[in-house]
Amino acid sequence: MSKNLRIKCPSCGNVADVPGNGNCAKCNNPLVLPEDGVIQMYRMGNPLGMAVGFGIYLNDIPMGHLANSESIRVPVSYGHYKVHMTHGMSRKGVDAEFDVTPQDRFIYLKAHIRPGFWSNTVVVERVPGDQMPPL
Ligand SMILES: [Zn+2]
Repeated sequence: MSKNLRIKCPSCGNVADVPGNGNCAKCNNPLVLPEDGVIQMYRMGNPLGMAVGFGIYLNDIPMGHLANSESIRVPVSYGHYKVHMTHGMSRKGVDAEFDVTPQDRFIYLKAHIRPGFWSNTVVVERVPGDQMPPL
């Protein structure tokens, strides 16, 4: 998996995976990564090999996509978060909701597709860290 961190530029909104603090590749404004906590998201491999990335929404803010079997990390400040993911045209999902606090700084989320009759549901669930792939 990538050791980079997924961040959204506060100036232009560009979503990128960066190794650390630096300048936005798009608008060149400085990117200062939050250091309070990290949300790690892992998409379980799908035997159907669906090529479409999951759309990631962090508190309703789009944070790019998560490819099949991909794992990303999003640095965050302390606070309350809701993670919602979408698949293709389907907006149906089971969200993960949690607080990032000094006692609870590392959040691990697993995402997978639950096939449905009309549309698929993307289920995001919080799991213990040992259920995540190694960094
Ligand atoms: Zn920017």
